[in-house]
Amino acid sequence: MEIDQRNTPPGGKKREELKQIIVVLIGLPGSGKSTFCEEVAKISNRPWVRVCQDAINNGKSGTKIMCLSVAAAALEYGKSVLIDRCNIDKEQRADFLKLGGSETEKHAVVLDLPNSLCISRSVKRSGHEGKLQGGRAAQVVNHMAPKKELPKLSEGFNRIMFCYNEKDVKEAIKLYGSLSLCDSLPFGCFGQKSVDSMVQVGIRSFFKKQDTSGNAKSVPEDSGNQGAEAGSHTAGDALEKKGKHDKVDVTISISGSTASCSIPTLAFPSISTADFQFDLEKASDIIVEQVEEYIGRIGEAKLVMVDLSHGSKILSLVKTKAAKKNIDSNKFSTFVGDITQLRSCGGLSCNVIANPTNWEIKPGGGGVNAAVFKAAGFVLEVATKERAEKLAAGECVVVPLPSSSPWFGAEGVTHVIHVLGPNMNPKRPNCLKDDYTKGCKILREAYSSLFEGFASIVKPYGNKDQNGKRAAAYVPENNKKTKDSSSSLSKSGVNNRNQDEQGSNTKTWNPWAQALHKIAMSPDSHKDIVLEVSDHVVVIKDSYPKAQQHLLVIARCHGLDSLADVSGEDIPLMKEMHDVGLKWAEKLILENNSLEFRLGYHSIPSMRQLHLHVISQDFDSTHLKNKKHWLSFNTPFFLDSVNVVKQLEEAGELRLGNESFFDGVLRCHRCLSVNPNMPKLKNHLRSCKDPLTFLIQNGYLISSEGKYSR
Ligand code: AMP
Repeated sequence: MEIDQRNTPPGGKKREELKQIIVVLIGLPGSGKSTFCEEVAKISNRPWVRVCQDAINNGKSGTKIMCLSVAAAALEYGKSVLIDRCNIDKEQRADFLKLGGSETEKHAVVLDLPNSLCISRSVKRSGHEGKLQGGRAAQVVNHMAPKKELPKLSEGFNRIMFCYNEKDVKEAIKLYGSLSLCDSLPFGCFGQKSVDSMVQVGIRSFFKKQDTSGNAKSVPEDSGNQGAEAGSHTAGDALEKKGKHDKVDVTISISGSTASCSIPTLAFPSISTADFQFDLEKASDIIVEQVEEYIGRIGEAKLVMVDLSHGSKILSLVKTKAAKKNIDSNKFSTFVGDITQLRSCGGLSCNVIANPTNWEIKPGGGGVNAAVFKAAGFVLEVATKERAEKLAAGECVVVPLPSSSPWFGAEGVTHVIHVLGPNMNPKRPNCLKDDYTKGCKILREAYSSLFEGFASIVKPYGNKDQNGKRAAAYVPENNKKTKDSSSSLSKSGVNNRNQDEQGSNTKTWNPWAQALHKIAMSPDSHKDIVLEVSDHVVVIKDSYPKAQQHLLVIARCHGLDSLADVSGEDIPLMKEMHDVGLKWAEKLILENNSLEFRLGYHSIPSMRQLHLHVISQDFDSTHLKNKKHWLSFNTPFFLDSVNVVKQLEEAGELRLGNESFFDGVLRCHRCLSVNPNMPKLKNHLRSCKDPLTFLIQNGYLISSEGKYSR
């Protein structure tokens, strides 16, 4: 039996690239746009994000700019996007067509259902997200209808699909719902009737753009939004405040302008000394001490401490103490200015901004945190949520700033590092009540993790590339300082440099999550469960197998806690892990030729130390208990080893999945049927014999049937 996942299976489909699509829905209120999106998402394997203007603002109506920001962020995170708003004229659609890169496909789905049907549906509905129902709905539909302008390919669409009745809509849902991650659809116009044949008497103008100047008063200002009140721009987002001119920012940033900052520079305000009332003398000692420690470890990069006013006591204390210690003023300086406008108002380019935040990492408070969230816009909230839900005092999280943020284009900011300091203010949560032993320790940790986080960003810039090139959206926020060439296999065995117990990540690993790390570092103490050990990997049986056969191939070097730590230099190790996993899968198939295996990684593992799952596809195990277990192996959260290596080879970095996949349905990986709960799914799995088509087609499956050549 010869098996090799790295080659395309003979007769099988060559694995294609991930195809991202932005689908712009076009239709009047009541035409079924939201239902279309929900149905597609329900049946689809693809990670779709529905961008609905009627719910974009924390479940309430928002603005088009909000939709653009969220759509841009979603595309940046590898998702496909459904734009659920009316988009009735060319102007409304134009900005959405500028999103994504040239490789992003732009589709229009036109729900051109009869006017009367749209009115009757929207009048009758209740609980509509945008509250567009009842008599007002009829009014809005009647106002919007004459302004409707059918889309043309020349607007920038690759594909336009016209639906005139419910049957057409069902077909479109089926079509889009069946698209796997790499599928594409033919380009061109589909399903369009000749205009004359579908014009109803009296509403010919329905299909033409008209001069609407006389109608503007009684319809919503932004006619793309079914339910928003005219001018209901929401506060809290800098994008919103700037109103219509924001378009310019969005266009600039998404058209690929990169933030320019000649040398990576971190701007940071003082942590904890304002709202959290930390003693200024003590804080300034810690700042200078930490700056001194880190300045030698960030290459040519720079640190700038910022405060708003020339009278800032903490700034002058730090300045004096840094001068006394002869800290290189080219590497560390102080600056008076608004941290949200350093480049535009102060002429200071800083690509990374530290944000002393609250434990929930949410906008609020009156200081830097509120200003940062406001300046960076809603996309920062979205990007932050993808990375962390909360912080403990002393911790930080590095968030790459999506290019759709106005801060990216206007200020050249590529990353925000949220950091939580100690609190001495009795009016704020978790007050340390003047316990400065604890407080100083936490403040030290806060600066240390902030500078570590910055160091992890500086690394990808490298010494050669100091031109401010934006790091990828998935630059790990990890501290890679503990990782050295051991991971590239230039050294054998475990690298025994001083290693922080918590590993390479700013993420803290719980004690229970350290088991695999301990096994990797001292396999001799775990002989009972170790199947194989070499200089670079250890193979064990998973203690809580989620299938009949479930092994783990664990990397043995320090500094590789998870895929987030992996870079191009780790390709040899990743290939070795794959080969070892493949060897074990083959061995187990020889013992039981009904087994089929998949090799891959969890995007965000629960256990510390990079490990490859070698898992049989029966999922027949008492340890497979909950939805998360299932979805972690059966959504793009699980990254096939071949694909991981390919991405590293081609792009030098990885696009990781995130926990949003755990919201998905329980779909059988064979027949794709949806099951209501785990017992039913497990029952179904016992009898379903459909082939694992997706895995076979993509070269991900290892089975006795596979005649893949090495
Ligand atoms: P991940 O979510 O990718 O980190 O998966 C971690 C895997 O490690 C899971 O499949 C667990 O069942 C498994 N596991 C957890 N604790 C142990 C342990 N002490 N020994 C072996 N495997 C373990």
